[in-house]
Amino acid sequence: MGIFKKMFGKKDEPQPQVQGLDLGAVIEQAKAMQQEGIQMMQVQVQGGNVSDLMAQATQLTGAPGEPRTQFVKKTSCHNCGSAKTLAPKTAYVYCDFCGSLIDYDFQKACENPQSAMPGPAYEQMARSLQADIAAAKQSQDREQFKAIQTQLFSKWVELCPNAVSPRAKNDADYRTQLVEYMAECATVNEFDETYRRFAEQVATQTKAIQWTGMFPKTVASGPTFWPIYETVKQQVNHSFGLLATAGVVAKHPDQAPEDLQKRMTWSMFCQGWLPVLEGGDGERMVADAGLKGEYSKLEPIETTTRHCGVCGGELHTLPGSKTMLCEDCGTHIDVGNPEVNCSNCGGMISFPVGRNRQQCPFCKSEALRMSW
Ligand SMILES: [Zn+2]
Ligand SMILES: [Zn+2]
Ligand SMILES: [Zn+2]
Repeated sequence: MGIFKKMFGKKDEPQPQVQGLDLGAVIEQAKAMQQEGIQMMQVQVQGGNVSDLMAQATQLTGAPGEPRTQFVKKTSCHNCGSAKTLAPKTAYVYCDFCGSLIDYDFQKACENPQSAMPGPAYEQMARSLQADIAAAKQSQDREQFKAIQTQLFSKWVELCPNAVSPRAKNDADYRTQLVEYMAECATVNEFDETYRRFAEQVATQTKAIQWTGMFPKTVASGPTFWPIYETVKQQVNHSFGLLATAGVVAKHPDQAPEDLQKRMTWSMFCQGWLPVLEGGDGERMVADAGLKGEYSKLEPIETTTRHCGVCGGELHTLPGSKTMLCEDCGTHIDVGNPEVNCSNCGGMISFPVGRNRQQCPFCKSEALRMSW
């Protein structure tokens, strides 16, 4: 009942929490979008209306019906030029041939919005740091501000492993780089006056949203939503200018190109707003933000089965593939060279890129391969 009151009561009208891209950006947005997404879903399911964030996203991104596992988003690798062929397991789409991060699948990201929910431990930590954040802003202490953001993002990545790339699972260096990147983004934005002005504008525009529709579907009216979108667009473009100049774009832990980083930012925003927009507005937003994408049906294709040398999981590789990301454990695996038999248990394993010694995932003894 609390949720209904909160979402639909006359006094507390529903406020999408994703108001823009300020507020230490990603955490706030992720938190917000999951709150929004989950609350909406709960409400809609309880209201007997079976329509949720994912269904909307599926429809809007133009995927041709279920089962979704039969489709792959059309995209090609900026690094090696190959077309994405195999279905990714997460929203982070890695190249089948060289293992680069090449795309972000908005539809997949919408499958599991609660994966970005950090929970009460995080909330408490964030609350306890509020005063320090305010003080750092007040005294223009960038280092201190960034240190606090680093603390917060580390916690968030730890608590929400499924909201970030599978590479963060077991790769401590990757996690460190990711947290550093997120904390720098937040800091560069926070200490820029223009960015903050956009944020204030978005906050004002969000308060002016007119809510229409009846329980269980409350809708932000298009004419009051679009000014927010336009401001956020300016804000995002401005922010990426700042981030590029400050060298932060180049620090993305997957070396994602700028347009991909932008789309990932938009994904957060769109996940927050999609549940409260009318179909036409939602579709226009997703398309304008570059998240629509085309999906093609997976054709039966001949693959070779290999075994991740770290977790033992199966990898299905295509002819000509050199490096694949094992999406189960997040390790880049060398699939350009033959598998090796573990001398102890005889299990076949493919080594992580750059390694010639590896603990066999099956029998835990040390396996070796000749250097190539
Ligand atoms: Zn590639
Ligand atoms: Zn693995
Ligand atoms: Zn073994």
